[in-house]
Amino acid sequence: MVTSGIHPQGKARSDRAFVTLATNPDYAIGAAALFRSLRRTGTTADLVLLYTDLPDDAVYDLCTLGVRAVHVDLLSTSHDFNQLHTRDRLHGAAPFTKGEKPPFHTPLDNFAKLRLWQLDYDRVVFIDADAIVLQNIDRLFDYREFSAAPNVYESLADFHRLNSGVFTARPSQATFEAMLKRLDQPGVFWRRTDQTFLETYFPNWHGLPVFDNMLQYVWLNLPDLWRWQDIRVLHFQYEKPWQDHAKADSLRVLIDLWKAHASDGPVPDLRDLPAPT
Ligand code: UDP
Ligand code: MN
Repeated sequence: MVTSGIHPQGKARSDRAFVTLATNPDYAIGAAALFRSLRRTGTTADLVLLYTDLPDDAVYDLCTLGVRAVHVDLLSTSHDFNQLHTRDRLHGAAPFTKGEKPPFHTPLDNFAKLRLWQLDYDRVVFIDADAIVLQNIDRLFDYREFSAAPNVYESLADFHRLNSGVFTARPSQATFEAMLKRLDQPGVFWRRTDQTFLETYFPNWHGLPVFDNMLQYVWLNLPDLWRWQDIRVLHFQYEKPWQDHAKADSLRVLIDLWKAHASDGPVPDLRDLPAPT
């Protein structure tokens, strides 16, 4: 395994891993809830945290959940690339009109997801730290690279794009290096960071069912698509469930479910949860 920029602790116990990323303590809160929810599904795959800047006790807490911690450096992208993708520049050039990005969200950090291609696993399923897994999704390890669900939360037009909050990958140093070459070209701007990049890098991406990455705004905008028994991954895009935010009241049922998963439980049966109104 090539170790440049990546520093795993301990050994892999499986050839498969669920992987997430946390570059600051806020996303570590999310990662803990995600890993707790994954444990409840009975998966035997490794649970892996890629992290950059976390206090030791945050890493320690995650390790007590049986998580393998992998310290990574942010990608060594060029000065120009970093300037183009600062929070202020990105929000100015490609404003977010549908929802609010939290203050602790640093667009440039998203690209560190690509480090998972350097991991010592045959198969990886990446999941954003702001998601929880409600039913076993081990079958996703049998899906080929690169599979992701569509970015559906408003209308049919959303099916044109993927959402990079859940995807399948086959780690390979060669792929990682090819990606870095493609990523950091003079003047290239990835308006939705890793998501736009991955969609471009894998133009023939395979579609996962929307239920493997159900976005919280579906609850608000497309209630007909919502059926709790079908939802396997619930993804809190935009505002986070551990934040105080303007949409919290209308998303209360989802936020309470996230809080149950973030704690020692119990978690409610999906069949007992109310439908959107
Ligand atoms: N992330 C991170 N630090 C950041 C920004 C993002 O660790 O400053 C990671 C984290 O795993 C997060 C993912 O990258 O879940 C993508 O960001 P986010 O989920 O906030 O984007 P959204 O789903 O709202 O588009
Ligand atoms: Mn997300």
